[in-house]
Amino acid sequence: MFFAIIIVMAKKEAPLLLDKSEESILDARTTSPLVIISSLLILVSFYFDLTYSKNSAIVFATVGTIIVFALTNYIPKLQFTKNHIPYLISYHFALAFVLIFVMPTVGYFLVLWILLAYLSEYYYQLKGLVISLMALLITLFGGLYVQSNINQQNIIIYLQWFILISGASLILSRIILGTKEVRTNLAEKTSRAEYEHQRLLALINSMTEAVLSINEDGEVNTYNSAALDILNTHSDLNGKKIQSIIELFDKENNPIDIIQVIHETKYISKKTDYHIKRSDKENIMLEINISKAGSSTPITHETGYTILLRDITKQKSLEEEREDFISVVSHELRTPITVAEANVSMAQLMYKRAHFNDKNTMDSMEKAHQKILFLSEMVNDLSTLSRAERENKEMDIETFDIGSLISEVIDLSSEKAKQKSIIIKTTIESNISKLTTSKLYLKEILQNFLSNAIKYSDKGSVDITAQKQSSGKIRISVKDHGIGLSEGDKDRVFDKFWRSENPLTRVNEGTGLGLYISNKLARRINAELGLDSRLGEGSTFYIDLPVLATQKIDQSNVVKNEARNLLG
Ligand code: ADP
Repeated sequence: MFFAIIIVMAKKEAPLLLDKSEESILDARTTSPLVIISSLLILVSFYFDLTYSKNSAIVFATVGTIIVFALTNYIPKLQFTKNHIPYLISYHFALAFVLIFVMPTVGYFLVLWILLAYLSEYYYQLKGLVISLMALLITLFGGLYVQSNINQQNIIIYLQWFILISGASLILSRIILGTKEVRTNLAEKTSRAEYEHQRLLALINSMTEAVLSINEDGEVNTYNSAALDILNTHSDLNGKKIQSIIELFDKENNPIDIIQVIHETKYISKKTDYHIKRSDKENIMLEINISKAGSSTPITHETGYTILLRDITKQKSLEEEREDFISVVSHELRTPITVAEANVSMAQLMYKRAHFNDKNTMDSMEKAHQKILFLSEMVNDLSTLSRAERENKEMDIETFDIGSLISEVIDLSSEKAKQKSIIIKTTIESNISKLTTSKLYLKEILQNFLSNAIKYSDKGSVDITAQKQSSGKIRISVKDHGIGLSEGDKDRVFDKFWRSENPLTRVNEGTGLGLYISNKLARRINAELGLDSRLGEGSTFYIDLPVLATQKIDQSNVVKNEARNLLG
């Protein structure tokens, strides 16, 4: 009766709703069947005369009350909520009552206390556990008092049971709480990963470049809306093979196997020479960036690729137009500038011969002449630049004598060197005589080095040296004793339109294009440019030519073509 009152009171206190996710362990589906089965076992025990109480009224009343209590759990309005205290108190009282008055205290029913102690700790931590174990101790001694004669041996047995139940409930909670922690961590990590994934998707979708990610077999697993735009499709690309979606062609309209291009990528690669066809007439030029992505954990080993596509059709055609423009303009300007230069020179000469001594006119004419020479230099640089930038342009690879090339270069600058009393010395190692490369490009580069060496020096000599390096490469260097370059300037000499801020540089006219062009030309013949310089002491500019340049090769077309291929 007392027990029934407690249960009813406890239920009245309870709020109405149950939080299914967290409370599952105490909700009706878990506890009620267990409670009902346990109660039925009391009846079975009673039938086999295994209960402590032989009074059928007590046994049936207890079992009946517990079953009614368990069944009320199925009525939502009577269910317990987050406040577990009434629930746990009811269970403790029910089990204590059964253990003291109905079943033998020391017996299989006692094991159910493990569950109660565990639940108390689960919801109310150490406090809950201690209270539950104290209740167990009281129950055991209550049972000892009611059910048997108190003697030393029984006390020891009951204490052993107490230790056993406490230990077992501790182990159970350690295991389950540990698992719960792992699960919580995992859930946290999963939701964070999901959040990152969604953020990444939003980012990818906001990009104007097409992004496709594929697995090792080339199947698409992520793509953005820009990919659909570029590939001109509305269908779902997930799971499709990349080669069936992107049909690439090279400049000569030969089909390119994209899978091969992808598999050649070790880390990151960039291609700008391929296009796809939108229709028979329309080609879309693409910049393709491929990066390899891999994850290797003890559980998974996955690799894949991320492909970024950018429509560069407009950019390419603008570049072509710009190149055409520079090439046409520099070509068209050349003749009038040459004519103007010749006429101004002629006029200067005639004025001098006629002993005309109006200083102002002579100065103006000199200035005009200098500016025309500057214009002519600029036009020359621009036309060389446009030639170098046309990648398709064939290079003429030839075998020639290095000494005569250097002489030709010196001839072009000898006049200026003479004006500044600069002596040009040449040293060529005896083991190099012939070179095989683009004579035109090499001449352009050396001419630039030499004219700079004279331009930026006031005294001393300029030394041109050709020697073989230990790597087999040929180094041709031009050394001057001029103004030199600061450490900061050295990094920028090959930049487009760059000129040093040093006032000694600015005494001379210049475009800042010479070394930039030389660097471009050097790359086309697989050579490398470099420099050593000290401010105020002088500079040495050099070119390292690849091994192939020293090999003696036949002049036949076959060999020429091989060399062309090698030089890219
Ligand atoms: P430009 O000589 O027409 O200005 P370049 O591209 O040939 O253009 O050279 C870029 C800059 O590098 C020059 O303006 C100059 O500041 C520096 N430079 C090049 N060669 C030398 C040199 N031999 N000594 C000192 N400075 C040099």
